Amino acid sequence: MGYIVEMGELFLASNYKRERLAFVKGLGTRLFTEDGEEYLDFTAGIAVCNLGHCHPALIKVLKDQAEKLWHTSNLYYTEPQARLAKRLVELTFGERVFFANSGAEAVEAALKLARRYAFETFGEKKYKFIALENSFHGRTYGALSVTGQPHYWEGFKPLLEGVIFVAPNDEASLERAFNEEVCALILEPIQGEGGVYPLKREFLEKAKELCEKFKALLIFDEIQTGIGRTGRLFAYEHFGIEPDILCTSKALANGLPLSAIIAKNEIMQVLKPGTHASTFGGNPIASAVALKVLELVSEKTFLEEVSLKGRILKEKIEKLDPDKKFIKEVRGEGLLIGIEFQQEAKYVYERLLKHKILVTQPKPKIIRLTPPLIVSYREIDYFCNILSKILE
Ligand SMILES: *Cc1c(COP(=O)(O)O)cnc(C)c1O
Repeated sequence: MGYIVEMGELFLASNYKRERLAFVKGLGTRLFTEDGEEYLDFTAGIAVCNLGHCHPALIKVLKDQAEKLWHTSNLYYTEPQARLAKRLVELTFGERVFFANSGAEAVEAALKLARRYAFETFGEKKYKFIALENSFHGRTYGALSVTGQPHYWEGFKPLLEGVIFVAPNDEASLERAFNEEVCALILEPIQGEGGVYPLKREFLEKAKELCEKFKALLIFDEIQTGIGRTGRLFAYEHFGIEPDILCTSKALANGLPLSAIIAKNEIMQVLKPGTHASTFGGNPIASAVALKVLELVSEKTFLEEVSLKGRILKEKIEKLDPDKKFIKEVRGEGLLIGIEFQQEAKYVYERLLKHKILVTQPKPKIIRLTPPLIVSYREIDYFCNILSKILE
């Protein structure tokens, strides 16, 4: 593998558990090492490269914008950023967009917006957040504080004050947790890093009802579930339940750093000059690419195919083990799929890697599949054949 892995091991912070693998090129659903070894990528950079690697239409937009304008700061308007905001508004319930660069930053912006809105509308006693156990919202202090997995907190306390955790899909607990002090409820429609656990419709309906009753904002973190991943542009569309604030990032610019929060004007207007900002947020290159991403992904037939491919992949996996000897459950929506095994999934993960198939393992017993949405039916078959061999 040459020197890349060795150099990384010497000089990089050791905060990631990395494979001893370095990639030099990507194309569609494939990644290539320096030696030309080819891997089938069922991670898509953790639900980021939804249109695959080096998509020709995205390369074109990227190159064109790179020759025009890179950065101006947000002291001025740029065409790609303004157009992208317009497009996101057209494609959602929203009316206004704030741009940042990463998922955690979008969550930070959403939390700050919710507190500020409550502060201006009801005063400073309304500041508490409700979040879900087993959730994941990012690694910065605000995002970490609403992440309901205590092992991520170890050694980093004290966290943000006023966060109440509730078990997912437990309507009674949610009701008990609510009071006038709550300014927002934050949740992922499908918990991604938690191991692909979808929330139930009844729970989301209850969440919406309670937020309205207690005048709290409903924040959907769709950083992983958005941009076509579940077969809709955003997962909230499956339920017909609109949030007050929507967070999007990961696949928004297919691999360039970009994130956004989207809300109605009445809420977003509390972000007056000086309240919040980002130097790079909505930079022209990432925004230009994101516009193209949205054009390609929001196509009705494209999204219908994501649903179809997801259904086929899920059914094929379920059929591999009808007696549930190894596979306990296959969960998810569209091409966000979690396979929960009866035992630790490490063996399966390692065997897949030996077969040059990349997947992620968010929890010891769970393998998550997030292939590029452009994955072919043949590749789905190929994956299932290899998995079948491994199970044998
Ligand atoms: C990945 C992810 C984040 C954090 O995004 P970063 O870009 O790593 O900060 C937040 N929420 C969800 C649901 C995610 O999947």
